[in-house]
Amino acid sequence: MKPLNADLHCHSNVSDGLLSPAALVERAKANGVDLLALTDHDEIGGLEAARQAAAALGIRFVTGTEISVSWGDDQTVHIVGLNFDERHPELIAGLARVRSGRDARAELMAAELAKVGIDDAYAGALKFVGNPALISRSHFARYIVERGFARDIKTVFEHWLAKGKPGYVSHAWAELSDALDWIRMAGGVAVIAHPARYRLTPAERRELFVAFKALGGQGIEVVSGSHTEAEVREFAGIAREFGFLASRASDFHGPGESYIDLGRMVQLPPDLTPVWEAW
Ligand code: AMP
Ligand code: MN
Ligand code: MN
Ligand code: MN
Repeated sequence: MKPLNADLHCHSNVSDGLLSPAALVERAKANGVDLLALTDHDEIGGLEAARQAAAALGIRFVTGTEISVSWGDDQTVHIVGLNFDERHPELIAGLARVRSGRDARAELMAAELAKVGIDDAYAGALKFVGNPALISRSHFARYIVERGFARDIKTVFEHWLAKGKPGYVSHAWAELSDALDWIRMAGGVAVIAHPARYRLTPAERRELFVAFKALGGQGIEVVSGSHTEAEVREFAGIAREFGFLASRASDFHGPGESYIDLGRMVQLPPDLTPVWEAW
């Protein structure tokens, strides 16, 4: 039997993706995706349009969001919530609260960037924003590329926007326990996004998995567009050890800007329990 082509992590222009929710779903369909979740950062505003497009095209669709969480010593980790009731008031209020800090952060980022010669970055980033509530580092990165300071987004992060670089501003996102509560109350499943991408020591990473599990977290992205083959093996091992459900995720942001296109990832190791098995 042909394995299900599930892609449970991608972004539309309701957060920092390039495509509208409907265009994203069309692309997923063209790429052979059978089951899709739209997971905009701290946002659920694109879900209805995506659901309608998915219904019209005959793709299974589940709700999603990628919540920004502060963890440990000024680290940010991302928790994907899947298959929840998007009308749940606690989830709606929690996400609104997480989003509400973004604008002031963006002003601070622009001030820091101005000090290193990148002027007008707030207005510049805004030109790339599809949703005024959701200005992100990706929008600044697009502006900095447009201005010719760097040749691509990756270089912008390396020089200016990653932690420790001149345009980085530390920020208080959601608490891990709150993010997990909102997802659980709304009837969803919480998944640790791209676990290889955090700048944590192996011991710190393990602490994250232990805390996540203790707080009711259930899943982990074993296959992510940003994972190497070795990282897929590593996090398959973590899924076995902790009893986590396994997710499969492109983290697609747009044509030309992403590691991998929608639905084009390797399959999960067959012994793992997919996060969608119970749906
Ligand atoms: P923010 O939520 O505003 O902190 O922005 C985070 C987003 O920036 C992530 O979701 C990615 O889309 C993007 N991003 C973070 N690090 C990198 C990187 N090294 N290269 C390219 N994009 C990145
Ligand atoms: Mn992003
Ligand atoms: Mn992420
Ligand atoms: Mn993402």
